[in-house]
Amino acid sequence: MELSENITNSFQGIAVSPGIGIGRVMKIAGPGNVAPERIDVPDAELAGELERLHAAIAATAEQLTSLQNELRRKLNNRDAAIFEAHLMLVRDRTLVGEIERRIKTNKCNAEYALYEALEHFQKVFATIQDEYLRERSLDLKDVGARLMENLTDVREAMMGLDDSRVIVAASLTPTETARLDTSRVLGFVLENGSVTSHTAILARSLNLPAVVGVPGSFLANLTGADKLIIDGFSGRVIVNPDSRTEEAYRLKARAADEFHSRMKADNALPPETLDGFSVPLAVNLDSACCDFSQMKSSGISGIGLVRTEFMFLNPHHHPTEDEQFEIYKKLLIDAGELSVVIRTMDIGGDKTAAGISTLAEENPFLGLRGIRLALRERRDLFTTQLRALLRAGVYGNLHIMIPMVSSVTELMETREIIDSLCCELEERGVEHVRELPLGAMIETPGAAMIAGKLSRFCDFFSIGTNDLVQYTRAIDRGNEHVAYLYHPAHPSVLQLIKKTVEGAKEGGIPVAVCGQMAADPALAVLLAGLGVNELSMVESAVPLVRRAIRSVSMYEAVQAAEAALQCSRSSEVEEIISDLLRERFPEVAEL
Ligand code: PEP
Ligand code: MG
Repeated sequence: MELSENITNSFQGIAVSPGIGIGRVMKIAGPGNVAPERIDVPDAELAGELERLHAAIAATAEQLTSLQNELRRKLNNRDAAIFEAHLMLVRDRTLVGEIERRIKTNKCNAEYALYEALEHFQKVFATIQDEYLRERSLDLKDVGARLMENLTDVREAMMGLDDSRVIVAASLTPTETARLDTSRVLGFVLENGSVTSHTAILARSLNLPAVVGVPGSFLANLTGADKLIIDGFSGRVIVNPDSRTEEAYRLKARAADEFHSRMKADNALPPETLDGFSVPLAVNLDSACCDFSQMKSSGISGIGLVRTEFMFLNPHHHPTEDEQFEIYKKLLIDAGELSVVIRTMDIGGDKTAAGISTLAEENPFLGLRGIRLALRERRDLFTTQLRALLRAGVYGNLHIMIPMVSSVTELMETREIIDSLCCELEERGVEHVRELPLGAMIETPGAAMIAGKLSRFCDFFSIGTNDLVQYTRAIDRGNEHVAYLYHPAHPSVLQLIKKTVEGAKEGGIPVAVCGQMAADPALAVLLAGLGVNELSMVESAVPLVRRAIRSVSMYEAVQAAEAALQCSRSSEVEEIISDLLRERFPEVAEL
């Protein structure tokens, strides 16, 4: 489609979730995010701003006190004293006085006054010679971020708007994303992130367009009055488009919708290759609270991944065993006979939440993440979750999956915990399942290399390619600067997938892929050719992947995979597979 050439104020970012969004901007300030919008506040409303500030201070103090108490319980007084410094800062009259002064004299909103005051004190700290004092600037940053988060009740702010908006931010943590009223979001434009960062994953599951890698200098100039077009297919972001451009994008959005409706018409057809090999397709859910009943009509084999960690991101409340039990039970009843793979909490990496871990890690992606955190630091949360799962398992076809497995010992320890929980439930006479399939996520090169050993200690594998690519190629999955290197089709990744498939065969267990790679029609064909038994993806990708699988024979897919394994570059692999698909499924090339 021809789009207007007359686009001066636009930027080419990285497309991470498809779709077109057109609407005004809503900026989100948060830890490390762009400066909040300055809003002029009339004299009569200044008292209200001061009140909001004090409410945020009280909430912050309360959170810090409860964190401190928790630490005291788990560790010792000395470690808990770290939060004492933060508490003192949040009550410090110099800081609070400076924010109040700026609200009153500059007649502005509390967020902006806080932002300015923090900037001011950071500059002061930077000039201090004493290293100890200079390091206190980190405490200030931490407390400032917490205060800002409490002040910026995004959900409330969105309720006050009369239209839906495009969210603009430097980055969004999963907690921040979870706080949004997504029914009023048109899409996301972010400075940081990549195709597998968690905001992108969430955007795709909400069917909202997202573009990342847009420079802060571009975002800083945007205000709530600006209208944006975001093109989640190409990664283009256009500010205040002329009417011709806007109309062209509205047409593009309509064409994409029509294409997807056409694909959906095949929902009743089995995901089979031309020569009759079945490649079951499952869906990924980003929350166990999703309404699954609607999705059953997409002709899927089940739920291949339920990400449960988002339940644990509210620092004020972690779900109890009974609350989790009810959530899992409902999901299992909704799914009926379909298999449901619930992954235990994968916390750590970029999925961090206040109040879960007490460690400050330099390299969180290489730290206590997933099963490591569950076994070493938060066994309490882990056993609560497992107990809820064992009880809920009675209501459906439940599979438990363990994230970030990197050793046989982790699987053995998990089995031991499950066995002892079963004994405990048995003794208490609580209804539960005794035998549950236990799966391991293969997300690191190390796990892929010992897949043959791991396969003897579990019942299925699911390859988390989002992480496997990250760890294999040493590319931070959330870092837009290295996004150009992030190619799931890289031969190094394909070799490890092959190794995993071989390892699964040794143990006689099936292997699925639940990373973003499975949602790409061309790569899905490649995975089938590599011997993967099931593909699990965001629901919106199912129709396209089904059509791709139905367009080729398994013979062709295997040949393509064998040729791909001989390549030395991802571009060569992509060429092989897109040539095949272009020939068999030409419409996909239009996307
Ligand atoms: C993966 O790593 O591919 C995966 C599915 O898990 P997550 O994206 O939640 O880390
Ligand atoms: Mg992962």
